[in-house]
Amino acid sequence: MDIVLFGPPGAGKGTQAARLAEHLGVPSIATGDVLRQAVRQGTKRGLEAKAAMDRGELVPDAVILGIMKEALAEPRAARGSILDGVVRTIPQAAGLEEVLLDLGRTVDAVLVFDVPEEELVRRLSGRATCEVCQTPYTGLPPGSPCPKNDGGRLVRRQDDDPAAVRTRLEVFRRQTAPVLDWYRDNDTKVVRIDAVGSPDDVTERALGAIG
Ligand code: AMP
Repeated sequence: MDIVLFGPPGAGKGTQAARLAEHLGVPSIATGDVLRQAVRQGTKRGLEAKAAMDRGELVPDAVILGIMKEALAEPRAARGSILDGVVRTIPQAAGLEEVLLDLGRTVDAVLVFDVPEEELVRRLSGRATCEVCQTPYTGLPPGSPCPKNDGGRLVRRQDDDPAAVRTRLEVFRRQTAPVLDWYRDNDTKVVRIDAVGSPDDVTERALGAIG
């Protein structure tokens, strides 16, 4: 089963991706996590992506398609995937469909996370993320040890500063939101869930929506 998690930054896609992956026994794939790791490791891909990421803009589709292809070809993804933040433009949606088609699969559902904009800004501006496991926390200050005790410290993502947050929300409205029409035209199942509430409640709604 391949599920696309779709929604603006701060909607809780990362948190729910981990939970859904565990429930469904498939890996979660997050292009943002792969890119941040590439930046930390100073690879060619990381160097190409860093400036756009710091500004809150999208990295080029070709880079994202390369990541998608590699991640979906891994044996652990043989039975499906939870795709977190992977599809942000129409060329990416079309490219993903081709990659999956080669594997004899298709996107089974697009799960749309609904969160009001004021709530997104509140979440992103109070967010600190573990430098090791990438789990985001709201309400814990940067510098705190990760509650998962993995040796990581919480850091403020560079693109969670107010200017980058504004850009990311604008990019979502302009470049990413139209992707939903592409999926509807492609007859892909698109389901919306209310993504405000406790993580457990949202997981339950997500599982219910996927069916
Ligand atoms: P995220 O962790 O999903 O919020 O992604 C962080 C940043 O990585 C984004 O603001 C983009 O700069 C970049 N990024 C991640 N996924 C994509 C994607 N599918 N297309 C373009 N840029 C992406």
